[in-house]
Amino acid sequence: MNILAIGAHPDDIEVQCAGTLALYAAAGHRVFMAVATNGNVGTPDLTREEIAEIRHNEQKASCAVIGAELIWMDFDDEWLMNDRPTRERFIDAIRQADPDVMFIHGPTDYHPDHRISGQVAEDARIPASVRLVETTLPHIGKIPQVFYMDNPAGVDFTPEVHVDITSVFETKKQMLLCHESQDSWMRAIYGPETSITDMMIDNARARGLAGGSTYAEGFREVKTYPRTGSYAQLPGFGV
Ligand SMILES: [Zn+2]
Repeated sequence: MNILAIGAHPDDIEVQCAGTLALYAAAGHRVFMAVATNGNVGTPDLTREEIAEIRHNEQKASCAVIGAELIWMDFDDEWLMNDRPTRERFIDAIRQADPDVMFIHGPTDYHPDHRISGQVAEDARIPASVRLVETTLPHIGKIPQVFYMDNPAGVDFTPEVHVDITSVFETKKQMLLCHESQDSWMRAIYGPETSITDMMIDNARARGLAGGSTYAEGFREVKTYPRTGSYAQLPGFGV
């Protein structure tokens, strides 16, 4: 299968579903990580150009850990809009990956770029297979099954599926740690006690408690028409 995760910023996919992607990659599936914005405001002291380049390199390093293919959309951080150029770019990302399964941000997420990214991705999944919706890539032959990822604090998000990521937890952590610039940035904006790694670990432990494993990632299926899979089942996991 082809698997596509779409995150708003470099590091979002790692926090919410890198363990599941690592499991898919280890099982021989083709994994794509699409990042909507270039993260060009995530710094207390560098210029937008400098931090964007750093974050692009951090994202490449993270993808390399599991052999995922990176789709770098390069929109400005904090300014993601639900407009035609963005929808077209997301359609192209879906066409490039030709996914069986997609992971996207959900509507209860805290960050506007996350919510917009999730909405645009959800709205792009059908037009990606429509021939006369013309972008830079040709239409694809199937409509993927789509799941919402959890959000960082798990706010207003009750998973339907818990994926046991205990066996790949160190891989997930390694991928997140590739985003080295974000540790100082998170502390600068949210307080010195804030650690993106600790937040990820807390979330994975909490989902693991609910799902019956040491660490887990939680997902909910997007259930809008057309139905493209069994509700609340993650293809390839037999759950
Ligand atoms: Zn983010």
